[in-house]
Amino acid sequence: MSSPAKKRKLNSNSKSSPAAPRNLDYFFGKQQQNALSQPAKNQEEHSGETVEASNLTDEEFARKLQAEWDQEAAGGNSADHESKQSEGGEGLNTTIAEDNVEAAAEIEKVSNARSISSPGKISVQIRPEPSAKGKNTLSLQAAGSAEDTITSNIPFDESPLTFEPAKYIGGLQGHWAAEGGNASYAILTRCFVLVNSTQSRIKIVDTLVNLLRVIIEGDPSSLLPTVWLATNAISPPYISLELGLGGSAISKALKNVCGLDSKSLKALYDKVGDAGDVAFEAKKKQSFTLRKPKPLTIQGVYQSLVKIANTQGTGSGEIKQRIVDRLLQDARGPEESRYIVRTLCQHLRIGAVKTTMLIALSRAFLLSKPPGADFPLKSQGELSALKKESLAEIWSKAEEIVKACFAKRPNYNDLIPVLLEIGVCDELLVRCGLALHIPLRPMLGSITRDLSEMLTKLQGRGFSCEYKYDGQRAQVHCDNEGKVSIFSRHLELMTDKYPDLVAMIPKIRGDGVSSFIMEGEVVAVDQESGDLKTFQTLSNRARKDVAIGSVKVNVCLFAFDLMYLNGEPLLDRPFRERRGLLRSLFTEIPNQFTWVKSIDATSQDSETVLEFFKNATDVKCEGIMVKILDNLPNAPIPELEDDPAITKAIPEPANKTGKGRKKAKAAEKEPEKKTRRKALLSTYEPDKRLDSWLKVKKDYSTTFDTLDLIPVAAWHGQGRKSKWWSPILLAVRNEETGSLEAVCKCISGFTDAFYKANKEFYEEGGDHVLGGKPSYVDYEGGHPDVWFEPQEVWEMAFADITLSPVYTAAIGLVSDERGLSLRFPRFLKKRDDKGIDEASTSEFLAGLWRKQEEKAPNKEALEEAHDDEDG
Ligand code: ATP
Repeated sequence: MSSPAKKRKLNSNSKSSPAAPRNLDYFFGKQQQNALSQPAKNQEEHSGETVEASNLTDEEFARKLQAEWDQEAAGGNSADHESKQSEGGEGLNTTIAEDNVEAAAEIEKVSNARSISSPGKISVQIRPEPSAKGKNTLSLQAAGSAEDTITSNIPFDESPLTFEPAKYIGGLQGHWAAEGGNASYAILTRCFVLVNSTQSRIKIVDTLVNLLRVIIEGDPSSLLPTVWLATNAISPPYISLELGLGGSAISKALKNVCGLDSKSLKALYDKVGDAGDVAFEAKKKQSFTLRKPKPLTIQGVYQSLVKIANTQGTGSGEIKQRIVDRLLQDARGPEESRYIVRTLCQHLRIGAVKTTMLIALSRAFLLSKPPGADFPLKSQGELSALKKESLAEIWSKAEEIVKACFAKRPNYNDLIPVLLEIGVCDELLVRCGLALHIPLRPMLGSITRDLSEMLTKLQGRGFSCEYKYDGQRAQVHCDNEGKVSIFSRHLELMTDKYPDLVAMIPKIRGDGVSSFIMEGEVVAVDQESGDLKTFQTLSNRARKDVAIGSVKVNVCLFAFDLMYLNGEPLLDRPFRERRGLLRSLFTEIPNQFTWVKSIDATSQDSETVLEFFKNATDVKCEGIMVKILDNLPNAPIPELEDDPAITKAIPEPANKTGKGRKKAKAAEKEPEKKTRRKALLSTYEPDKRLDSWLKVKKDYSTTFDTLDLIPVAAWHGQGRKSKWWSPILLAVRNEETGSLEAVCKCISGFTDAFYKANKEFYEEGGDHVLGGKPSYVDYEGGHPDVWFEPQEVWEMAFADITLSPVYTAAIGLVSDERGLSLRFPRFLKKRDDKGIDEASTSEFLAGLWRKQEEKAPNKEALEEAHDDEDG
């Protein structure tokens, strides 16, 4: 299964979109050919049944079949039965049982041959049911009511401070025991439903905390699979474990299991727009199944996914299909089916992203422990009595620990067992710390609008300005034995992509260096001159199993940090020290390995900094990265205020002039707005985006911030553009609900060549367009002519952000009635290096709006309704 990181495309050729969830149209497309012949075939095989079936209701038909089989069982109407009975002289049940085993095998073989359906109508499943005692009996099950109802009364969305797992665990365990002993998938589904039904982040976290607590106390062995399933992954990004399901596997399963034909599946998909919702509808309409579903457990589902991922080679398609079919058969009720299918499509849409899960884990382990563990817990009563701020402090301390562990070692397989053993405590940081050949999550840089903002932010501090190269970030691990691993920014293993870098490592490693973790930017270069080449050139490099002799695109590693040396983590050392070690202990190799070009400066050196910035952009760098050199933990931090001496050398940004500028200054000077900023750290903070690393990009000198948006729909162009899609509707991502919220239509920044390629990619009826509006896209405006399958991220510039009555992006975050939209959105470039789950969030958009408000509150512009939809 692809994790968000695996969906990143940089490590692949930019044309492909490997992990974009396939829509059912795509699956159905593959079925079209069979669609015509299959019903005819089924009809031939079961003509008698089908004709009769058409006159009966599903229930009547199911009962009729059951009666026939009961009769068969009692009388034995086949010669085979008779001979077996006379030969073996065994009891009737045994004989029938054997027959049914054979029948089951046969039915498995022909898959849906005996699933009787009529187009557009879901009817009956005929499957002999292996009974618990190993005997096979046929039984009639009402599919709808077979759902596990035991969990449905547990108030999982209650506050964890009042929720008492112990009240429910006895009952649950009794129920689980009857079904094999482990926590049921029903409990997970129940929580998915609750999470999906709320927009409230607090409720989402509470629900997850309570779920985790029930699992920790009731069936700790299911905790790890629970966490994987809830985060829609089965392995960390650096371990390649892909489901690799063929496009048609889910549609086949829906046909096999629910008795739908291609046409009705397509119709259903057109209506509901999401594979999981199709499964929900299909299961809802399926009134009876003659095979009692074997209740799904969390562990069972997870293991099935791992099995799907591990099944390779000849015949793997069939094996995978059987597992998918079985999962869907065993899903009790529509909701379980919905989430099984969403899980298989790798698009769970419950918003339980990494951060939410880490928060939930940290809280759950403050309140619950598994039987037998002896770490201390917090008392619910005491926590309830605390003031809001004190409670927040306790939560956040635990959160920090869990997040810090996961940032250094981002693998639940490592984190969960230790949590179960010792809970959330400082020792967790030691037991679950940095390790060689496990990538840590990289530290990130905050965006600044321009050099003057950067200089203002870093007043009074020494910093290093470095070229911001346009390549691929690489984390290089090397152990005592010389084994090398190279990881991408998104933690994928890419050692195979860079055999030339691997071969270079022994040469750069100075005497006295045994093991290390280093970070740098890999950039395509001219091997002779060392001239930098574009990111595009780098992305043409093959990505897998590259033989060293076949390397055509030469690269240079520009190192910028050292995080681990000779068995010791360096994360807590100041940047100046880490950089000193890097530059003194490793050896440069011309045009293959060197340091990022840098200068050290303070805010007083604005002219030098400007000159350096210009040099960087002249040699095709994206701009500069600016990093705090030393820690000053006790020094007072100056307040945020423009210093004319600092900004004099920096040209004023185009849109920060006149009235707006004065207002901005006035706003900054308001006493209540003066805040003391946190001390900027020079330590390496994995997975954090702090102001101690600032990015100043050349694009920003002409615009404010940019947004990474997802194209979701479009209209036919007018006039010259009539052959293309224009305008194109773009959306931000709501991290909590998983939905995509439309934010603007864009008509500018596109070249004709772009339009042409775009039209070819999102060709009507093609693989990349959907049959209708997907339910997870929020857009209340006019009707687009085409809905794209969301899969790309485009970087967009814009003039400013406005409140809008039409667009729902970030609704509820800045206004209850209005969303946010962009004025004059302009396409800058495709972000081939980003997957859709890395697109800008509604929260981020709301943050930009607030920032805009603080800087230049311009009532007229902001209150002007953004009702010019084509703007
Ligand atoms: P981010 O990586 O910060 O989330 P992003 O993916 O949009 O955002 P950019 O805005 O392009 O990336 O900037 C950060 C990236 O710049 C780093 O991940 C790294 O690959 C690259 N980079 C180039 N030069 C440097 C440098 N000297 N120091 C740190 N990063 C650098």
